[in-house]
Amino acid sequence: MTLQGTSIIGNENGSGNESPIHGINPASGEILQPPYPSATEDEIKRACKLAGDAFDTTSKLSGKDRAAFLRKTADNIEGIVEDLVLRATAETGLPEPRIRMETGRTCGQLRLFAGLVEEGSWVDARIDQANPERQPIPKPDTRSMLRPVGPVVVFCASNFPLAFSVAGGDTASAFAAGCPVIVKAHHAHPGTAELVGQAVRHAVRECGLPEGTFSLIYGSGRTVGAQLVQHPVVKAVGFTGSRAGGRALFNLASARPEPIPVYAEMSSVNPIFILPEALAERGEEIATGLHGSSIMGVGQFCTNPGIVLTQASESAKNFASSFTEKMSGTGAATMLHSGIRDAYEKGVEAHEGIASVLTLTRHNEEAGPGQCSVGTAVFSTTAEEFLAHPELTNEIFGPASLLVQYTDHGQALDVAKKLEGQLTATIFGTDDELAKNKELIAVLESKAGRLIFNQFPTGVEVCHSMVHGGPYPATTDGRSTSVGTGAILRFSRPVCYQNFPQGSLPDEIKDGNPLGINRTEN
Ligand code: NAP
Repeated sequence: MTLQGTSIIGNENGSGNESPIHGINPASGEILQPPYPSATEDEIKRACKLAGDAFDTTSKLSGKDRAAFLRKTADNIEGIVEDLVLRATAETGLPEPRIRMETGRTCGQLRLFAGLVEEGSWVDARIDQANPERQPIPKPDTRSMLRPVGPVVVFCASNFPLAFSVAGGDTASAFAAGCPVIVKAHHAHPGTAELVGQAVRHAVRECGLPEGTFSLIYGSGRTVGAQLVQHPVVKAVGFTGSRAGGRALFNLASARPEPIPVYAEMSSVNPIFILPEALAERGEEIATGLHGSSIMGVGQFCTNPGIVLTQASESAKNFASSFTEKMSGTGAATMLHSGIRDAYEKGVEAHEGIASVLTLTRHNEEAGPGQCSVGTAVFSTTAEEFLAHPELTNEIFGPASLLVQYTDHGQALDVAKKLEGQLTATIFGTDDELAKNKELIAVLESKAGRLIFNQFPTGVEVCHSMVHGGPYPATTDGRSTSVGTGAILRFSRPVCYQNFPQGSLPDEIKDGNPLGINRTEN
C-alpha cells in the first residue's frame, strides 16, 4: 500500500502542511518518509462535524451490522500484514514476530467485540413492567439499556503501535458500542497509523457507513489533541501514555463547559510481593521468571514489574543476586522513541540518587541522538527508606526494577498501604501463605485492578473477565477496563424508557425478547 502522508478526514485526505512529523527508526536514527503534516484547525472541525453526523447512523446500527463492520476492519488489517511488518518494525524498533503477534491480537480484539455485540446481551437490558394496581401508587413501566455516548477521540499508544493504536482496543470498543472514532496518531509510528487508518476507511466504505465513522488526525498533542478533546461534539476520550499527558487531557476535558470522561491509562509500577516460604522453595525459578517479565518488550509494558518486595533473609539475598546477574547479563536494546529513552534515563538517574545500585548499564555513549538503545538497571532499598522516599514509587518506564526488603509482615503491609493505584499487584507464595495473608490481599484489592497469584503481570489476556485498569494514577477512572470486552462500558451510558409503547422501544427491551438476549426482568 502506498503511503499518502496525510490525515484521513472521512473520505478526504488532509491538506495541512504545517509542522510535519516524520517516523524515525529508533535503532538507526534514520528519518522515514513521507512526512505527516499537522491537521489544520478546519480539518479538525470537519472531522468532528462528520463524526457528529455519523453518530445518527452508527448509534442506530444493529449488533449484526456493527459486528460486520468490526470483522471487515479485522479482515482488511490482516490483508496488509506484510506492509505493517515492514513499516512498524522500522518505526518502532520492535521485532517482526512482535508485530505479527500484535496484528493478530488487534484483529482478535475486533472479532471478540464483534461476537459480543452480535450476541447482544452486553446492553444490560432491565425491564420492570407496569403494575397499575400497586398501592399506594401505581408502578410505571420502566425499561433500560446501554446506548452509545457519541463520538470518541482515541490517542494512539506508542508502546502498542497496533493493539492500542488506530484500530486497537479503545477504537474497537468504541465502534462496538456504536460510536464514531477520531484517532490522534502517535508521532512515533505515523506510517503504521496510516496503513491501519486506510484499512479502517475501506471497511467504513465497504459496509456503507457514513464517512465520519472514522478519521485519523496527525499533529501535536498539545494543539491538535487538545482541540479534539475540547470540541463540543466529542463525548469521551481513550488514552494510553504518560501521567503528565493523561492528566493534561483529563484536566482539559473536565474544564469544558460540558465535561466529558477521559479514560486515560498512565502509570503503574505493578508491585510483586514474594512471601518467605515461596522465596525459600523456589527463589531461583521466580528470579528467572521475573527477569523475563522485566525485560519483555524492553520493559515498555504498562504491566512491567517495577517494584519487588521480599522479607530480608538469606533466600532474599540469593534471589537479589541471581536476578541482578540475569539483568546485568542482558544486552542493550532499542526503545520505541527518543522521548521514552530520555524519560527512562531520567527515571534511572533519580533512583540512583536514593537507592543502592545493584547493576546499571548506561546506554552506548557512541550511539547517535536518534538511536534509542538502553541497558538494564536494578536498585535495592529497605522498606524504611522506601517509605521515607515517595519518589521511589515513581514508574520508570523501561527495563529497571527496584528490590525492597522488609523486616516483617507489618512492614510489608505498611509498604502496600503506601503504594499508589496500580494496574496489577502480584503475590508469590504457597497456598498456605496466601490464605494467611488476607490483610495484604485486602490492601492490594483497594490499590489494583488485577490481583495475580504465582504468575507475572506482563501478558494481558484479552477476554471477557479481564480488568486492565485501576485507581489513579494507573488510570483516571478506576471503575473501568481498557482491555477485554468490559471496555465497551466506557463508551456507553444507560437510558431508561418509561411508559413507551412497544412499537417505539428498541428490540433489546421489547416484550417477548425478540433478540433472545439475557435480560433482568421484573
Ligand atoms: P505521551 O508523551 O503521554 O504521549 C501520548 C500521546 O499524548 C501523544 O499523542 C502525545 O502527543 C499526547 N500528549 C502528551 N502530552 C500531552 C499534553 N500535555 N497535552 C495533550 N496531549 C499530550 O506518551 P508516550 O510518548 O507514549 O511515552 C512517554 C512516557 O509515557 C513514557 O516514558 C512512559 O513513562 C509513559 N507511558 C506509559 C505507558 C503505560 O501504559 N503506563 C504507556 C506508554 C507510555 P505528541 O504526539 O505531541 O507527543
